[in-house]
Amino acid sequence: MTGMSRALRFTVALVLGLGLLTWAASLIVSSTTRDWFMKDVRLRGQLAVNGARRALVAHWPDARAVQAILSEITRDERIMAAAACSAGLEQVAATVAYPDRFSCERIGVHVRPRSPRERWASWTSVDSLPGGQVHVSAIPIRDDGSAVGFVVLVQDMSYVGRREAKTQGFLVGAFAILAFSASVLTVLAARLSWRGWTRQMRDLLRGESPRPEFQPILRDVRDLVERLVAEREQEGQGGAWTPERLKQTLNRHLHGERIVVVANREPYIDELREGGEVVTLHPASGLVTALEPVMRACSGVWVAHGSGSADRQTADERGHVRVPPGEESYVVRRVWLSPEEERGYYYGFSNEGLWPLCHLAHTRPIFKSDDWRHYENVNRRFAETVCEEVDSDDPIVLVQDYHFALAPRLIRERLPRATILAFWHIPWPNSERLGICPWRTQLLDGLLGASIVGFHTQMHCNNFVDAVDRYLEARIDRELIGFVYQGRSTLLRAYPISIEWPDHWAESAPPAAECRKSVLADLGLGPEALLGVGVDRLDYTKGVEERFLAVERALELHPDLVGRFTFVQLAAPSRTLIDRYRELNERVEREAARINERFGKDGYRPIILKRVHHEPPAVFRYYRAADVCYVSSLHDGMNLVAKEFVSAREDERGVLVLSHFTGAARELTEALIVNPYDLDEAGEALAVALRMSEIEQRDRMRAMRRYLAEFNVYRWAGRMLGDAARLRRQDRLAIRLGIHAPTENGT
Ligand code: UDP
Repeated sequence: MTGMSRALRFTVALVLGLGLLTWAASLIVSSTTRDWFMKDVRLRGQLAVNGARRALVAHWPDARAVQAILSEITRDERIMAAAACSAGLEQVAATVAYPDRFSCERIGVHVRPRSPRERWASWTSVDSLPGGQVHVSAIPIRDDGSAVGFVVLVQDMSYVGRREAKTQGFLVGAFAILAFSASVLTVLAARLSWRGWTRQMRDLLRGESPRPEFQPILRDVRDLVERLVAEREQEGQGGAWTPERLKQTLNRHLHGERIVVVANREPYIDELREGGEVVTLHPASGLVTALEPVMRACSGVWVAHGSGSADRQTADERGHVRVPPGEESYVVRRVWLSPEEERGYYYGFSNEGLWPLCHLAHTRPIFKSDDWRHYENVNRRFAETVCEEVDSDDPIVLVQDYHFALAPRLIRERLPRATILAFWHIPWPNSERLGICPWRTQLLDGLLGASIVGFHTQMHCNNFVDAVDRYLEARIDRELIGFVYQGRSTLLRAYPISIEWPDHWAESAPPAAECRKSVLADLGLGPEALLGVGVDRLDYTKGVEERFLAVERALELHPDLVGRFTFVQLAAPSRTLIDRYRELNERVEREAARINERFGKDGYRPIILKRVHHEPPAVFRYYRAADVCYVSSLHDGMNLVAKEFVSAREDERGVLVLSHFTGAARELTEALIVNPYDLDEAGEALAVALRMSEIEQRDRMRAMRRYLAEFNVYRWAGRMLGDAARLRRQDRLAIRLGIHAPTENGT
């Protein structure tokens, strides 16, 4: 509520109260003034009769003389009529307009004594005549103590009513002025004292007068304000998260400060081609796909390994390059690694150790102490680079993925007031499995250097809680969902990552019919072909072999599909320095060849394997051309291919067959969810997808598109950065107040 409307409501209440008071007061005043006026009337009549008494006695009962005296009395404008009555109650004389109803006989009853001991007494009454109310008074005329008769006076009362109304008018006016002045004064006084109070509160918030008795209320106020701000953000902004909304949210929270992202992969890789030409590539990575639009929206610095062969050539001497090319809105800071460092930290510890440790894909993790040393060193180098890039002593730093488990602690040591968000893009294993890693404690200790640790799903959060419980001396706060470890607290949150919406690659792709025509032509297929698509880095967790086996099973179960159904697999080579990946390449090739051999004839090949990196425009062309997209990951933190396929299908056609073991399966529930190990189920699902009616395709696709429009990557980033900014505000305030920050005392 605004200050204005609050003051208005207060004034209205005050005026109503005073109005009620005025009404009650006017009732009392009017009865009192009426009494005064009646007394005045009586006195006036008495005076008039007293003045004429001597003359009346002198001429009593001479009717003409008495009549003249009465006429004299009625010269007073308020005395309308008069009559003189004898002691025997007979009329002696009366003025012209004297009303018959006030006969001597009738009035005399009240005046004459009822017993010999009583005396003649005056009498008054109020009566009504057609012209209005009149005051009737009877006054005895005495001569030497005994009454000769009495005079009846009829006095006009209308002026009493007039006077009453006037008095009431004055009274109401006076009260209205009083009410108005009182409300103005009260509002002024309230505002002045509110200002004083808020000034004190602000001083308090600034830590200028940290009086201990104010601190409990201060915490409550702070919580309330936080909640209101959050609610207002939700209400006010409403609707979908967009780059603009993310920008506004960040401007409000960060006031132009830069966010620093740390990730192994850079969003733009410059490669040197034959002839000295430099080409900029978009790496095949879910992390990059998600984070790049966020950085475009909020600017800042992305610290990453400069892995491209032309990266040094295109960066300045500090390793800086402004991106995206042509519409520069943020900076990439490239960190140069030696081949040994890259081998030990990236290929070794990260991808031969942690990657298979975290994914249930039956590949044995390999942990070597040399690799671990490189991992530690590279984490330290990145932490130092972050400190070079920040522009305050309490920056917001987003540490991305399993390559940097130690970086949060190392950054915290250098920047104790930083708000550090560590987001783990891959699954977190159960604590028994984590036990395989000889450096599990260091990994957990490193991550708990962060202010917030994030995963895609609640299940991975739960696994992380179990691991901390099992391997660290930490207090688990199951209410706030976080930990207190070495005097600091770390929150744990699930933030399911997503894609930009609308996806700019989808927006710039040709219409579905055009894509289908060109893709079918490229693949040498006829217009009636049924097309399945898979898009992945060639990784054993993606279940590409199981995917091919499911295609084979579909052809076995549904021979009518043979010759018609073709599955095209875009497979970007990945981590090819690792034996397991090289083997995978060979196995996948072999499997495709075997199935093609089995079902192929007359140029028909059920599987087309394109083992080469495809740039996003090509990927989106395939998404749009396909009848079905099969994501068969054996284990996947989220899987953005599934979400991209949905975003590409503006035509509301196409079916997504999705592995149950992806984070995306928790959200895209209208996909055909399968167990990729169950080849019968997966093969059957492919056949169902290929035969699904257009209406069902539309209904499923529409529901998933509606979901992704809302749960897009801007929401992911907005929620995460909003939480980080909130923690930072609390810490800043707590430091100003001289009380321990929540991240330092635990709760
Ligand atoms: N991708 C690509 N070119 C390829 C293969 C994949 O650009 O040849 C992209 C794909 O479009 C997606 C990302 O790589 O954006 C893969 O993300 P996902 O989350 O599915 O898996 P991740 O590789 O992160 O494990």
